[in-house]
Amino acid sequence: MSPRPFTGNFTQQEPIGEDAVAAAVEVLRSGRLHRYNTSGDELSEASLLERDYAGYQGSRYCLACASGGYALQISLRAAGLQPGEPVLTNAFTLAPVPGAIVNAGGQPVFVETTRDLVIDLDDLDRKRTASGARFLMLSHMRGHLVDMDRLAAFAEAHGMILIEDCAHTMGAQWRGRNSGSFGLAGCFSTQTYKHLNSGEGGLVTSDDAGFMARAILLSGSYMQYERHGAAPAPEAFADLRLETPNWSGRMDNLRAAILRPQLAGLDANCVRWNARYQTLERQLRTAGNLFLPVRPAEERYVGSSIQFLIPNISETAARDFVAATMALGVELKWFGDDEPVAFTSNHKSWRYLERQSLPNTDAILSGLFDMRIPLTFSLEDCAQIGDIIVFCAQAVSNRSAA
Ligand SMILES: *Cc1c(COP(=O)(O)O)cnc(C)c1O
Repeated sequence: MSPRPFTGNFTQQEPIGEDAVAAAVEVLRSGRLHRYNTSGDELSEASLLERDYAGYQGSRYCLACASGGYALQISLRAAGLQPGEPVLTNAFTLAPVPGAIVNAGGQPVFVETTRDLVIDLDDLDRKRTASGARFLMLSHMRGHLVDMDRLAAFAEAHGMILIEDCAHTMGAQWRGRNSGSFGLAGCFSTQTYKHLNSGEGGLVTSDDAGFMARAILLSGSYMQYERHGAAPAPEAFADLRLETPNWSGRMDNLRAAILRPQLAGLDANCVRWNARYQTLERQLRTAGNLFLPVRPAEERYVGSSIQFLIPNISETAARDFVAATMALGVELKWFGDDEPVAFTSNHKSWRYLERQSLPNTDAILSGLFDMRIPLTFSLEDCAQIGDIIVFCAQAVSNRSAA
């Protein structure tokens, strides 16, 4: 018997909390929305957010900026990327990642993905040798952390410049160490569908004074860099201030004001996400034909989305499966589609780049399904969704067996 359809909304986030609403109203009433529009030695909301986030992340420095993609882009530039240089990155990632590399003047070189949805370290080694790349933009796509001990040792051994894309790993850790703290810089997004919600927004963290001084200047700090909340000392800017272009991409006080109260609740929300993730995971494991990526014990993930594979599923069966779940109200994304749909695309749709051969990634993406887990879903909702997915997955396997 077909399960009861689910009626929840997969793109509905929780409302912004009343404390954040009050902080926003205060900024609006002040009229001082620009981050450098302060009086006396008052720190603006944007600067306070930088101070708070550096504290949360345990990094020396932090820069708040316009978006996650912008954070990635200026990190590459601030790290010294030269025009045309190769940048290694995950083949399984989101469009803003290759976009940021190209925007910074680099050439994305895609690295294969494993069944556990992390970068393939053997292919990384091969591609580094073949490309001679100095840069690795490691994308923790959908929150899956690769073995960061091995990755960091590899980067260290080859003197690679590591920038982490932590759009889905804000709040995540590897063996107790925060995602985003393993290389030169960590880049975060506060876009509505990530772990903090200001509509749009980005954060860059680093312990490197020269790097952060360049990033701050690039972000469009005019000569106001001394008024940042978690910036290097003014000396770090002395030689750079007139030689670094201004690429306006600042965060404003309104967004910062609604992010600060949310940051205080981030860890509690990570626990809530994981309770939902684990409820779904338990259900999905009851289906014989679904493979869930293995999550290592060292990884403290944030289950704000869930992925599973149906190995060897045909294109027709994948489309039928997505349609069947959709008919029961469950919105799955299929990464194997040749046509990019909504936020989901794969490397074949980035046609401004020369096509790269990624057979293993293609094989994985052809059977990869993905689902958002908004916090507006209850645990009961997640159990119901799990039942629907299992029901539809069993129908797929019955059909292919027939
Ligand atoms: C959302 C996202 C980004 C970029 O974030 P924006 O703030 O939307 O620019 C980067 N990488 C991944 C994997 C993402 O999902």
